[in-house]
Amino acid sequence: TVRTRFAPSPTGLLHIGNARAALFNFLFARHHGGQFLLRIEDTDRERSTQQAVDVIFDGLRWMGLDPDEAPVFQSTRQPRHTEVALELLARGHAYKCFCTAEELKQMREQAVAEGRAPRYNGYWRDRDPSEAPAGAPFTIRLRAPQDGDTVVDDLVQGTVTVNNAEMDDMIILRTDGTPTYLHAVVVDDHDMAITHVIRGDDHLTNTFRQSQIYAAMGWERPRFAHLPLIHGPDGAKLSKRHGAQSVVEFREQGFLPEALNNYLLRLGWGHGDAEILGRDEQIRLFDLDGVGRSPSRMDYVKLTHLNGVWLRQADDGRLAADVADRLRGREGIAIDDATVERIRFLMPGLKERAKTLADLADSAAFLARSVPLSFEPKAEALLTEENRDMLRRFAAELSVIEPFTAEEIDGAFRRFTEREGKKLGQVAQPLRAAVTGSTMSPGIDATLAALGRDEVMARIGAAAT
Ligand code: GLU
Repeated sequence: TVRTRFAPSPTGLLHIGNARAALFNFLFARHHGGQFLLRIEDTDRERSTQQAVDVIFDGLRWMGLDPDEAPVFQSTRQPRHTEVALELLARGHAYKCFCTAEELKQMREQAVAEGRAPRYNGYWRDRDPSEAPAGAPFTIRLRAPQDGDTVVDDLVQGTVTVNNAEMDDMIILRTDGTPTYLHAVVVDDHDMAITHVIRGDDHLTNTFRQSQIYAAMGWERPRFAHLPLIHGPDGAKLSKRHGAQSVVEFREQGFLPEALNNYLLRLGWGHGDAEILGRDEQIRLFDLDGVGRSPSRMDYVKLTHLNGVWLRQADDGRLAADVADRLRGREGIAIDDATVERIRFLMPGLKERAKTLADLADSAAFLARSVPLSFEPKAEALLTEENRDMLRRFAAELSVIEPFTAEEIDGAFRRFTEREGKKLGQVAQPLRAAVTGSTMSPGIDATLAALGRDEVMARIGAAAT
């Protein structure tokens, strides 16, 4: 069966390039009825904190990319990494290198001076270890083949070949006995029975060296698929100045996980003109042959558009709960069950125009404010003496309509407007100003119905006296 893995280093954020790799691994496994695993590459003990690990767990959960088995922590597997290194040593596929840091430095300098690539010259490859001073520290290096080629049939990049002569004997175990990154990854992928390694193409060159370890152990290599990186809209490396880069940032800015998933999938993968894809469709359609080879450009405008589409399809109760969370703690805002219900009630109107949850929160904030409201200048300007008189007359009518529904409110509003000899907007705008503090809201009937009679009376009362 197909087994894929996402293997992030806990660096404190879940970059969207990594999130996309996680998504592709997840979808590929699901599409083929296999398993998706998670390995936390936390061998850099300095940088790996529980907090950084939680960022990954939370981000994956939010994206709906939970692994099928308990996560593997690479740091706990060190004894196994050592065991494999010693096995390679015992079988003659690796050797001890006693070169000191100073010697290695000279070796590199000499190579550069002679116009060659700075690399290890194989000094201890065929030397007897007894020539080393007693007790001298050593690294373990792979005895890599020096002739022939290493070929990778990459499922995205196609066939990629490197001349073995271009690779020196890499270190697999350091002098302090810790495994190197490339070695640990191979041992873990093998032990986790990974069949497909799908990752960023910044790892393509590592694949050649990793292949040498697989060959030395006589292990079957997984298939590889190296994904092009995500660049900024201008084609440069994606960076802060372009906008959000991490899952947490997108979440904070008010993107739905469905939209981010949908966008990241479409970025670099295509299937005909399918644009809006939910999880089931994604699983059904995804395969690696739809992944393109050229770098993708992050298009924030397109993502925002997609988000609007997903917002309009999302459940109103869920959106109201999220908006309430965003509003909690803002100045002058009080959230209780009744306000959440108001927000939910008005959600169909609110989400018509919103592009993000942050927009939604801004436009819903008036529902959670308490009387007296503060008014935007444009709204304030509408509350003239004459309009305030008019609002008081309308309030008298509102106080008696039964039931206090959008439909009844609309009827009363139209009758009132006609009787006053006004255009709809001439009544609606001052009314809107009085009850929302602004000049924009969903339809005035739904807005009043969402607030409820008591609140409407209190707001008109405060604004129109
Ligand atoms: N830990 C590596 C990274 O975060 C991924 C290695 C891999 O996927 O093989 O870039």
